[in-house]
Amino acid sequence: VLAVEGLVKLFGETPVLRGVDLAVGEHEVVCVIGASGSGKSTLMRCLNLLEQVDDGRVLLDGQDVTDPRADADAVRRRIGVVFQAYNLFPHMSVLDNVTLAPRVVHGLPRREAEERAMALLARVGLADKARDYPDRLSGGQQQRAAIVRAVLPGPRLLLLDEVTSALDPELVGEVLSLVRDLKGQGMTILMATHEMGFARQVADRVCFLDEGRVLEEGPPEQVLVDPREPRTRRFLARVI
Ligand code: ATP
Ligand code: MG
Repeated sequence: VLAVEGLVKLFGETPVLRGVDLAVGEHEVVCVIGASGSGKSTLMRCLNLLEQVDDGRVLLDGQDVTDPRADADAVRRRIGVVFQAYNLFPHMSVLDNVTLAPRVVHGLPRREAEERAMALLARVGLADKARDYPDRLSGGQQQRAAIVRAVLPGPRLLLLDEVTSALDPELVGEVLSLVRDLKGQGMTILMATHEMGFARQVADRVCFLDEGRVLEEGPPEQVLVDPREPRTRRFLARVI
């Protein structure tokens, strides 16, 4: 579904991504781990074309989306994104938040968008919150609603950037269990996370990003339990 090849991103003179290679196959969940500042969010933002890349390619279903001739809006329609926090519009009900993109961007009639939204909200235990504004929801409920909003249009790829790191510990589990459900439904997911236990249980592969490069990648049991690289080992010793 996704192939990242030699991706380079500079901020001014400073290289933040120094040639990232990464692939996510159909129905795969790939977790990106790495220290603060290693470039995880920058990578996510490049994939969603929120940042211009300086070198390398990003192929989505074989199409180079970093090609300036690519239709950025069309690319973004195929990618769902959820960030750490502030994902919902505060002045709209949950239902309006969730149905906005399908209606406006994808041209789905309101009735149909709302029916699909209500079905999904019910599945994540938020049916009774649909008419509420986001500030009436807990952080975990807000993030679940944000994930519903991202998946409702049926994206090819879901990008999750630290979706649990702004949450109180007791709310983290409910969001992670939704991600696990999405995997069960066959969603293709690239997820930056600090939740090593989750990565170990749910990821098909884990990529360790270090100073703007994928230093090590493989199955979670290998990368998280028996890493080859000393730098991966040092990182894990600090976070686990
Ligand atoms: P965290 O785990 O804290 O979220 P991260 O791995 O997501 O970290 P990034 O946010 O991608 O890291 O940042 C990588 C580097 O790029 C950091 O050194 C950061 O200061 C720098 N950076 C990010 N955005 C910009 C920007 N708009 N302008 C200049 N530098 C930036
Ligand atoms: Mg980040």
